[in-house]
Amino acid sequence: MTNDGFLAGPSPRRLTRQVRIGRVRVGGGAPVVVQSMTNTDTADVLGTAMQVAELARAGSEVVRITVNNEEAARAVPHIRDRLLALNMDVPLVGDFHYNGHTLLAKYPACAEALAKLRINPGNVGAGSKRDPQFAAIVDIACRYDKPVRIGVNWGSLDQSVLARIMDENATLAEPRDAGAVMREALVVSALESAAKAEEYGLPGDRIILSAKVSSVQDLIAVYRDLARRCDYPLHLGLTEAGMGSKGIVASTAALAVLLQEGIGDTIRISLTPEPGGSRTQEVVVAQEILQTMGLRAFTPMVTACPGCGRTTSTYFQELASGIQDYVRAQMPVWREQYDGVENMTLAVMGCIVNGPGESKHANIGISLPGTGETPAAPVFVDGVKTVTLRGDNIAAEFRAIVDDYVATRYVKKVG
Ligand code: SF4
Repeated sequence: MTNDGFLAGPSPRRLTRQVRIGRVRVGGGAPVVVQSMTNTDTADVLGTAMQVAELARAGSEVVRITVNNEEAARAVPHIRDRLLALNMDVPLVGDFHYNGHTLLAKYPACAEALAKLRINPGNVGAGSKRDPQFAAIVDIACRYDKPVRIGVNWGSLDQSVLARIMDENATLAEPRDAGAVMREALVVSALESAAKAEEYGLPGDRIILSAKVSSVQDLIAVYRDLARRCDYPLHLGLTEAGMGSKGIVASTAALAVLLQEGIGDTIRISLTPEPGGSRTQEVVVAQEILQTMGLRAFTPMVTACPGCGRTTSTYFQELASGIQDYVRAQMPVWREQYDGVENMTLAVMGCIVNGPGESKHANIGISLPGTGETPAAPVFVDGVKTVTLRGDNIAAEFRAIVDDYVATRYVKKVG
């Protein structure tokens, strides 16, 4: 709370242990980490390595791949090698269900090549097989010094835990409703599995927890509870968020509430790609959630007005879209050359009503003429009008102003 009584910013980050996934630190005060997951057949070494590289270039700091069969397990070290040959040291996480204990034991090179193992307590094994198979995976994680994400999911919740919580609930004087019982079972499954992993020898600073559901309100409730009851870093994500705007909005609604409360150490946005769409969209959305909340900066942000009857041309939309694409495309180069360029803000506005004012709030803003206004576009740099653009070459001239600003205002990296 500020001294004028307004809430201005997220709550302090929840204190957690810190876990290392390869060279990436998660929790313990580290910035919130962006993760993604491939959708290639992991046995396809080249295809998977190329998609991991694409996700990493887009900004994914950790990439998960499924390891579902022997061909996939055999492929993992080769995928790792191809990435290293491309000079990409992105940590790979292996996603195991049902047969992880067998695959990891049979293919030690797979275990070695991975930076983290993800297991789902509901899918480790049934009945009397569950504990020994869970112990076998933990033993391999300890042997190769790998952290483990214990990832509970309500689509594959450990039924023995759910049955036990339901039985306990039935004995209460005021039994909780079915939703509350399910949420408690998710949290208990994650916490009991973590305790068991520690009992089997995995150090507490090698454990990350997640408990994913596909309903926004349930996700918020589950993670609030999990955050209250442990100090492991938490991986946030709304599972099966869906396609397009629905998936983006639902993920953002859930994660924003938790991140604002200081909960969440790494995030993944589980978007279903449009047919033929790029897998990297989930990385862009994750980055944009963190950046628009002021938690991290990845790429310059463009503020643009929505347009209205005062500007009937589509020119400002094209300029806004073009400059957003341009700065995103430039970032891999700029990031290597300049410190702080990711914090730059741009504004592209459609008419005189809010154009000059909003443009002055950005590092560089342009206020295009609305319908009936003088055909001139004043440009503001750090709040000061520096030039007025006219004619057919405004987009190129604006880009040149942006390039010049980057080259002169951000500290050049040495070496
Ligand atoms: S800046 Fe002008 S064009 Fe853009 S929404 Fe506001 S009034 Fe409409």
